Amino acid sequence: MSENDLDSPGLWDDPLFERFQTPVNSPVAPHQLTLDDEIQFRCHKGIACFNACCSNIDITLTPWDIRCMARRLDLKTWQVMLKYTMPFEMDAHGLPGVKLRPVEKGTACQFMVEEGCSIYEDRPTACRYYALGIMELRRKDSSTLEDVYFMVKEEHCLGHQEERRLTVREYRQEQGVEVYDDLNRGWMDLVVKKKSAGPAVGAPSERSLQLFSMLYDLDAFRLFTQSEGFNRLFDIDPQTRKAIDEDDAELLRFGVRFLRQTLFGEKSIPMREEAVRERYERRKEVIEQKARELAEKYELRDPQEEGEA
Ligand code: SF4
Ligand code: SF4
Repeated sequence: MSENDLDSPGLWDDPLFERFQTPVNSPVAPHQLTLDDEIQFRCHKGIACFNACCSNIDITLTPWDIRCMARRLDLKTWQVMLKYTMPFEMDAHGLPGVKLRPVEKGTACQFMVEEGCSIYEDRPTACRYYALGIMELRRKDSSTLEDVYFMVKEEHCLGHQEERRLTVREYRQEQGVEVYDDLNRGWMDLVVKKKSAGPAVGAPSERSLQLFSMLYDLDAFRLFTQSEGFNRLFDIDPQTRKAIDEDDAELLRFGVRFLRQTLFGEKSIPMREEAVRERYERRKEVIEQKARELAEKYELRDPQEEGEA
């Protein structure tokens, strides 16, 4: 089956699905593609539009993208964040996202040079995929995500007119996206979950948004896991300690678990009971005050009180 045979609206119009679109913004209604579907596309240095896509960027980054750029440039992730990225809001509740920052007063990518991409081997996920797009979809009655692909056809991109056909699977292999997908998956799942969870009442707290953005700066997150306060609260076994101290991929996987635990209460990291109790006692007054404020703001009543009145 070719991409042109896929005329049915497919999953995009299925209300059972929630959407999470990775970094590419498609100007056309996408046709759903599977790994074994064929696409027609080739990008190469000799093509007339070479570098056109990198001259006007809108690239959403994942924590692993930022980590790969940092290692490539021999910088810390916070240095990459400052120089090469800019924040944006992924949803109406201000869910923090990060994009590549273009050149000063321009739209071109800072990594674009005459020969192409100056960080090609470590380019972000969205750049690897282009002109293929990927969506992470989750059925409302399922906890797992499904990958769905589509072609992004923009007028300036002449790669679609090149005589080369290959499957989505072959294209993904060629672009080296597997390892990126593996490390992005936990993060994307978290984004979908946070988006669909939304705030229980009112806007999400500033703290939850700050927590959510922690993993973009993986080097700072590692320092956080080594801090006295963190280790007073969490009981990290020696094997995990070594893994997150030395291996960025393990640190990111651990970070996703940490966020699932702190944001959604999915406990997978052991905590020291006494420290949890002490912490609760210290914060008890603040928590109770906050609950009272919210109850007043949204005029919540204790049903028992109402029954008695
Ligand atoms: S990182 Fe490289 S491939 Fe991606 S937009 Fe910049 S120059 Fe282009
Ligand atoms: S063919 Fe498309 S992806 Fe390749 S340089 Fe041209 S615009 Fe960019």
